[in-house]
Amino acid sequence: MPPSDAPTGLDAATAAQRLRAEGPNDLGTSQRRTLRAMAWDVVREPMFLLLLGAGGIYLAMGDAHEALILLGFVVVIMAITVLQERRTDNALTALRDLSSPRALVLRGGAPVRIAGREVVREDLLLLAEGDRIAADGTLVQAHELATNESMLTGESEPVAKQPGQAVFAGTLVVSGQGLVRVSAVGRRTELGRIGQSLDTVALQASPLREEMARLTRRLVFVGLALCALLVVLFWALRGDALQAVLAGITLAMGILPQELPVIMIVFLALAARRLAAQQVLTRRLNAVETLGQTSVLCVDKTGTLTQNRMAVAALCIAEHELDTQALAADSLPEAFHELLEYAVLASEIDPHDPMEQAFHRMAAEHLRDTEHLHPEWLLAREYELSPQLLAMSHLWRDGGAAEDTVAAKGAPEAVADLCHLPAAEHAAVSAQAARLADRGLRVLGVAKARHPSGQEWPGLQHDFAFEWLGLVGLADPLRPEVPEAIAQCHQAGIRVVMITGDHPRTARAIAAQAGIAHERVVTGDAMAAMPPAALADAVRQVSVFARIKPHQKLALVEALQAQGEVVAMTGDGVNDAPALKAAHIGIAMGQRGTDVAREAAALVLLHDNFAAIVQAVHRGRQTFANLRQAMIYTLAVHVPIIGLALLPVLFGWPLVLAPLHIAFLELVIDPACSIVFEAEGAAANLMQRPPRRADEPLLPGRLLGLSLLQGCAVTAAVVGLYAALLGRGEPPGLASAAAFAVLVAGNAALILPSRSGAASGWRSLWQGLTPVSLWVLGGTLAALTAITTVPWLAGAFKFLPLSPAQWLGAVGTGLALVTVFEAAKRWAWPRTPADQAP
Ligand code: ADP
Ligand code: MG
Repeated sequence: MPPSDAPTGLDAATAAQRLRAEGPNDLGTSQRRTLRAMAWDVVREPMFLLLLGAGGIYLAMGDAHEALILLGFVVVIMAITVLQERRTDNALTALRDLSSPRALVLRGGAPVRIAGREVVREDLLLLAEGDRIAADGTLVQAHELATNESMLTGESEPVAKQPGQAVFAGTLVVSGQGLVRVSAVGRRTELGRIGQSLDTVALQASPLREEMARLTRRLVFVGLALCALLVVLFWALRGDALQAVLAGITLAMGILPQELPVIMIVFLALAARRLAAQQVLTRRLNAVETLGQTSVLCVDKTGTLTQNRMAVAALCIAEHELDTQALAADSLPEAFHELLEYAVLASEIDPHDPMEQAFHRMAAEHLRDTEHLHPEWLLAREYELSPQLLAMSHLWRDGGAAEDTVAAKGAPEAVADLCHLPAAEHAAVSAQAARLADRGLRVLGVAKARHPSGQEWPGLQHDFAFEWLGLVGLADPLRPEVPEAIAQCHQAGIRVVMITGDHPRTARAIAAQAGIAHERVVTGDAMAAMPPAALADAVRQVSVFARIKPHQKLALVEALQAQGEVVAMTGDGVNDAPALKAAHIGIAMGQRGTDVAREAAALVLLHDNFAAIVQAVHRGRQTFANLRQAMIYTLAVHVPIIGLALLPVLFGWPLVLAPLHIAFLELVIDPACSIVFEAEGAAANLMQRPPRRADEPLLPGRLLGLSLLQGCAVTAAVVGLYAALLGRGEPPGLASAAAFAVLVAGNAALILPSRSGAASGWRSLWQGLTPVSLWVLGGTLAALTAITTVPWLAGAFKFLPLSPAQWLGAVGTGLALVTVFEAAKRWAWPRTPADQAP
């Protein structure tokens, strides 16, 4: 697009210097929370308030020592929580940085793509259709440019823009191209003045999150009821009000499920970060949960399945077909020169389109010393490609010549239509095009026309008298990773559907190469004529849709969704945005995709790599499986806490648990959930089973049963041992130390079976131990050893130190519970292939 005396833009050094001096191009609305804000959030947490309440009661009872120890725990727990939140926040911030807008600027004469925040004043910004403009500026050049300024004005009609006019940061280029000299960045832009921010990574309501909230509310209700029951019982049986409230607080600390929603966000945020490492950017966290449910993956052909690197493979004039792939330079037979000449004339001067680039490349090789190249001609008028007419024309003016030259190229049937070919010739051309398409080539027809240069230009391409020249076949090889990735999708129970604007036969040939079911191909015209029932039938059975118009993509997504499918869909153009938004998971191409498509999408493939979609589905399934295991574990560990808090009161035994003990337990439970389970590896068969159904609950009955069963096993062991020791006349301090040791060891043992999923067997239990779980396990046991054997520490917990034999007995009992857990798991996971594992 830049003419010969093209502007060069700033040089890199000036730009860097200006960036330092004037600051980055952002609105300064960084969403990173300050440490203070985070601390404040922690302070409002129920756990914290309960700890403070307990401390207050100890003080009221004159037990300053106890109160101080609790305070220590408050600090530790706060620190851990803040660290945890930092981790989540960092993950989200990293994603926001990645997803922030990009800009194409001229620096030192060459176009470079930079982060939007690095744009500085006086930069020359290249605009193309679908761009979100990075800064305010004045147009230096404009080519059919129109922008949507609704962001600023609320007016949604596109505004045509001419050189000299202003364009604004945050507005969208809906058509054309342009070159802008930046006049203001960051807060000094119009957008900055009204303080708007572009939405980036969003954290919205989602079914899973709502389910989690419901579950949490229910558990809070049960928990509070239990606490009230305990306080009343305690008070009635023992008559000590302060102690009763303390016991209630202890129980509340132990069982209030405040960690559940936190676990979920942590899991999703970290999954998103792991995806980013695989070059998949998550713009909506929900996508991670929905990914695991994907049952249909709709992909476009060009650029997603294929490389979008076109090369001219065949030329056809009349009956003559020429294979051009092995052609030496300058050896193109004269008869084909005109066809190539007009293919180039029908292309942009400095094309972005890979097909047009292929024509330019070939012309440079074969036409360089001929009269078929016309660098001196002026491009006077363009007729754009539209969904209604898949053809485009260029009108060229040759200085003082009496006639202008018109060149058209487009879908063969469209160009044949422009030429008003008689039926017989039309059929011959179609047959020829079909032959090329069957080889997987993309086929274009080319035509020429003349127009008296004095006369006004017609408004429609149809008004020229076009003359048919021939066909061009372009090869666009399949991406090498595609067949393998599609096979993986099929194994994982995901249907892959190709949706393309291309010729049905080209679509079928490429589908065959890619391994997509291609017995039937439905075209856009056929689809438009279908009654809803037939369409529903088609989307169930057909996997290749060709000559689809952009708005039909949305109809396809909706038809699939009406069948109960969970639809993921790829796209890159401005026209794809509605379908990307409507799909459960819109996936945009990071390199090729427009800003509009990226903004509409939930996922962005930074390297346009198709295999990344499969990896993302894998990650989604794994995250859900891990989340489920964390839930099973969390529910299970709370059961013995309830038992150990309630039963002694009922039976009149000395109490074991005080707030301090619970605080200790929390220190085990939280990291176990958020570190061990999050880092859990995937089950081997994760991608060999069908997707989770959309209506499948987070914790189905069987898993809930498993969790409670495991919890009851620990409770029985803990309470049983405690009762037995008391019954033998052991001092309460010893009995409670032993009981607590069983409890903690039992919880640690719970990490093992929860984490090994369904693929059990004893060996896998130990072999599958990740370093992280070893650390957490080891740390837990070490801390437990300290508080049950070191006298002064034990004292703080009201324990008598255990002898090594006693310690071994208690810890051994706890760890041995793993056998019971394993048995429970076999019950919960019936060993049928379809039904395995979370
Ligand atoms: P796809 O779904 O494969 O990306 P498109 O929607 O981009 O297909 O294109 C649909 C059809 O429009 C192509 O098969 C071709 O016939 C025609 N077409 C696309 N781009 C051009 C172009 N630059 N010049 C002429 N025809 C084009
Ligand atoms: Mg396309």
